[in-house]
Amino acid sequence: MELPEVEVMRRDLERDVVGKKIKDAEVKGTKNAMRAIRRHKTRKEFTSRLSGRKIAKVERRGKYLMMTLDSGDVLVVHFGMSGQFQRGTGRVVVAPHTHVVITFQQGGDLRFLDPRTFGELFVAAPDELGKIKELQHLAIDPLDQVFTWPTFQYLLAERAAKMKQLLMDQKFISGLGNIYSDEVLFGAGLRFDRVSDTLTSQEVRRLYRAIQEILQDAIKLRGTTLEDDAYVDLFGKPGEYQHELKVYGRAGLPCRRCRTPIQTVRISQRTSFFCPQCQS
Ligand SMILES: [Zn+2]
Repeated sequence: MELPEVEVMRRDLERDVVGKKIKDAEVKGTKNAMRAIRRHKTRKEFTSRLSGRKIAKVERRGKYLMMTLDSGDVLVVHFGMSGQFQRGTGRVVVAPHTHVVITFQQGGDLRFLDPRTFGELFVAAPDELGKIKELQHLAIDPLDQVFTWPTFQYLLAERAAKMKQLLMDQKFISGLGNIYSDEVLFGAGLRFDRVSDTLTSQEVRRLYRAIQEILQDAIKLRGTTLEDDAYVDLFGKPGEYQHELKVYGRAGLPCRRCRTPIQTVRISQRTSFFCPQCQS
């Protein structure tokens, strides 16, 4: 999941589980389930802070979801490579790799699934949150009000990094992964190997606009679901932004803008896609 998918999940949870009271929380009896709640020493230490609590709000910080409970505690969720939430009921079979099931007083449940278990959940008090390293070092969020193009220009000029790596650097900007960074660079007409402190003001503005437009469109179309990545929303539905992708996954196919075949390059062990004509 990249930022749009996490934001779609946040909006679904806001509509669907905020206001609901947790009857019970269960961590499955497997080693992987313990890995999913690895910041807690025991299952009970995790579940006892959820049972009987109402979910008051759901916020997003970078790719972390923060579900505040009426006790003041916060249930923090990071989906990692393959984690996801799924809404279910007692009648729906528990899928393989389900590690946590949160059952609601009003009926229905919320399940956390994660085949590769890089994702995690934990409950923390507000004063404990400040001590969590990963949350302290979150970079600027591209959907945040304070993310303006002059701020962005300043941040880019401070670094002398190649654009593809920089956009994927979670310490620089939150939430862009391999897919959206390729799409953003194409949208801005910039090559993957452009160096950040050499961009002109006009290029920075184009890049800023591309980030906003692409992320907002991807959220509107409920994220990207590729064949090799099983992202689905809270209700099991795939996203639709994959049909809008301009370069990602289109090696050898004609560029949608100029018909030149899309090329690939290996960057940080991943395949990147670009148009040699439209991006310079
Ligand atoms: Zn092109």
